[in-house]
Amino acid sequence: MMFADLHLHSIFSDGTFTPEEIASRAKSQGLAAIALTDHDTVEGCARAAVACAAAGVEFISGTELTTEHGGNELHLLGYFLDPHNARLLTEIAESQIVRQNRIREMVAQLNKLNVPLTAEEVFALANCKSPGRPHVARAMVKAGLVANLDEAFERFLKKGRPAWVPKKKVSAADAIQLIHQAGGLAVMAHPGLNRTDSVIPDLVEAGLDGIECFHTKHPKTVSAHYLEMAAHFNLLVTGGSDCHGLSKGKPLIGTVKLPYDHVEKLYAARKARHASATSPSPLPAGGERAGVR
Ligand code: AMP
Ligand code: FE
Ligand code: FE
Ligand code: ZN
Repeated sequence: MMFADLHLHSIFSDGTFTPEEIASRAKSQGLAAIALTDHDTVEGCARAAVACAAAGVEFISGTELTTEHGGNELHLLGYFLDPHNARLLTEIAESQIVRQNRIREMVAQLNKLNVPLTAEEVFALANCKSPGRPHVARAMVKAGLVANLDEAFERFLKKGRPAWVPKKKVSAADAIQLIHQAGGLAVMAHPGLNRTDSVIPDLVEAGLDGIECFHTKHPKTVSAHYLEMAAHFNLLVTGGSDCHGLSKGKPLIGTVKLPYDHVEKLYAARKARHASATSPSPLPAGGERAGVR
């Protein structure tokens, strides 16, 4: 059996592994294919593609866009994106500015609570264009302001806690369109975490291609539920560990195993999408199954 892990974060967002570390761990886990899905960026994809090609692991370029639908935050995975697509790069640059400003707002909230953290400490630790709450939490641990990441989230950073700041997001429908025009497939990430199944018909209407049925935080029953949903709406099935590095001392990469036949269906859907595109947009260099995209 061949397996894939199509949900991974690197140092280009809130993960702690480099793209090269991800590629070598994918190889040692025996994964046939992986995708890099950093939050609101595709910046790590070039390095991951090179490292995966060297390791003999198929690589699919990806991202995890922070979007919004009906007032709820919703994460959309984009696969097979052209990492040079101009509109995509413009949109994600805006999301990154929003993220950077939000770090400053969260730090200001913390300061009001007499937590002496500076935005500079967070940016230095994050060292990427797409900083997020995990970087704030890590900076707080590093400065000795909390004992661990859980404490940072539970006391300050979780939604509804005093240093939580909402972020402005693109609508899910616009994000699906953005992914499509960049040559990608749009997949709803970890629906079991949102538990807002009512949005799925709207997203399907907006052109959603797939649903992430297998995820670290999906128990078997939840995966089974979304496999049924995928069948009902004729959606592609994806899955991944959502590895952000070491979690309680262990890497999650490879712990969620997407059977490879689903990856083949993704390739087929991508091909069909390109073939049926009315305005011809060239296939990104490297092509499918070349192990580089
Ligand atoms: P942000 O994109 O800045 O809103 O941060 C969201 C990220 O924070 C998620 O992708 C997870 O990596 C992480 N996260 C969310 N909730 C928690 C939590 N309770 N404990 C640790 N990490 C979390
Ligand atoms: Fe994350
Ligand atoms: Fe997510
Ligand atoms: Zn993720």
